[in-house]
Amino acid sequence: MDTLDLDKFICLRCGACCCWPGDVKLLEEEIDNIAAHLGMDVDIFIRDYTHLAASRRGLSLIENNDGCCIFYDFGKGCLINEVKPVQCTSFPWDWTCPGWDERCAGAMRLKKMNLSS
Ligand code: SF4
Ligand code: SF4
Repeated sequence: MDTLDLDKFICLRCGACCCWPGDVKLLEEEIDNIAAHLGMDVDIFIRDYTHLAASRRGLSLIENNDGCCIFYDFGKGCLINEVKPVQCTSFPWDWTCPGWDERCAGAMRLKKMNLSS
């Protein structure tokens, strides 16, 4: 794979990263922020929207039956965009996963730019 220049990366909001397998881990302050954003009691938010992460260290957002994040809406995108976890905002600059560049519309745009330059 060509090295992608992530300085030029733009998220095209395709939603693919909200629907691939794996945990969306939550920092403690993010739990408080999301619960406040939703107008929910923190304990209720934890009960209804989170589960133990696979690492058994901390909590992760639950998924819908289709495997997408519970807060992903196919029409509207992320329903908690203003307070989404750093795991979401830091992708793909701080972390990626195998095959991400085959599914992320922003990565595919960068690849096309590489081919045409
Ligand atoms: S919190 Fe929002 S951005 Fe993060 S995975 Fe869920 S829907 Fe996607
Ligand atoms: S897969 Fe890439 S382009 Fe699509 S929403 Fe995620 S970061 Fe944005």
